[in-house]
Amino acid sequence: MAEAFDHGGGVRSVRVPIPDNPLGHTLVYVVDTDRGPVLVDTGWDDPAAWDALTAGLTACGTSVGEVAGVVVTHHHPDHHGLSGQVREVSGAWVAMHAADAAIVRRARETRPGRWYAYMAAKLTAAGAPEEHVAPLRAARGRRTLPGLSPALPDREIVPGELLDLPGRRLRAIWTPGHTPGHVCLHLEEEHPAHLPGRGRLFSGDHLLPEITPHIGLYEDPDDATVTDPLGDYLDSLERVGRLAPAEVLPAHQHVFADASGRVRELLAHHEERLTGLLALLREPLTPWQLAERMEWNRPWSQIPYGSRTIAVSEAEAHLRRLVKLGRAEPVTGSEPVAYVAA
Ligand SMILES: [Zn+2]
Ligand SMILES: [Zn+2]
Repeated sequence: MAEAFDHGGGVRSVRVPIPDNPLGHTLVYVVDTDRGPVLVDTGWDDPAAWDALTAGLTACGTSVGEVAGVVVTHHHPDHHGLSGQVREVSGAWVAMHAADAAIVRRARETRPGRWYAYMAAKLTAAGAPEEHVAPLRAARGRRTLPGLSPALPDREIVPGELLDLPGRRLRAIWTPGHTPGHVCLHLEEEHPAHLPGRGRLFSGDHLLPEITPHIGLYEDPDDATVTDPLGDYLDSLERVGRLAPAEVLPAHQHVFADASGRVRELLAHHEERLTGLLALLREPLTPWQLAERMEWNRPWSQIPYGSRTIAVSEAEAHLRRLVKLGRAEPVTGSEPVAYVAA
């Protein structure tokens, strides 16, 4: 049975499975417009996901061939994976923020060898042990990267502007942090059940009811800019809180109402986490050593290889934030660089 849920007011959702992932599903939203349905995200590029999406659209009383457009919240494969296939079948446009479109372009152009060499150098600089870096060096000769030929978008989502959705008011809210070009989409129409607040917010991975999104460094072999993704994320959270939507329609888990309450929880969570890290940084630590000591959903010894790479990136994003706030500093002359509370 295809699953489609009616949220009222010409908005439905389809649960599209993510293979072998504890997140389970991406919620793909189907927004009716005068020119046909427009999707917010599409789901993972996988045959079972495609079947769920197409069956879900049928359950919504439409079909993938009728899709007029795809609005992508961010470039991650559980959101953008099927966009190319939807466009092929329907001729739909695909819209994305320029910063994430740049990542898509780079992913399509970067040779795998260059990418693995970049990651190996980055992890070595973060203090990763040889056994973690060695597999990346060994993979340098690989010809393709899994999941790294995403579809190029053909429209740009411009922050603050209304999208071209005939008969609807959907405004792009730029919310960098989880990715540099993440956007939330604010449906500026009264809530169909007249819940108090201002319209509804498609929040992508930015604001989720029970989990915090991963915030790591933006990986870019061609750009040496010292970015502050956690700072970006916290600013974006406040921006979304100020919108005060009546209801949030996230890309995972479930719909929820109290956006500002959830924003406050997340801001408090990150403040607590930064304070906890400062306690760890009473002794100088490399990003890798900090990641080993941080609190995760399981002990470090049980965290698998790929998740360790992500964890180190998250540790680095927190260090960036602390350095920027003047609460931590690099130890002069340390190699790999260690950080200590200021
Ligand atoms: Zn994501
Ligand atoms: Zn996601």
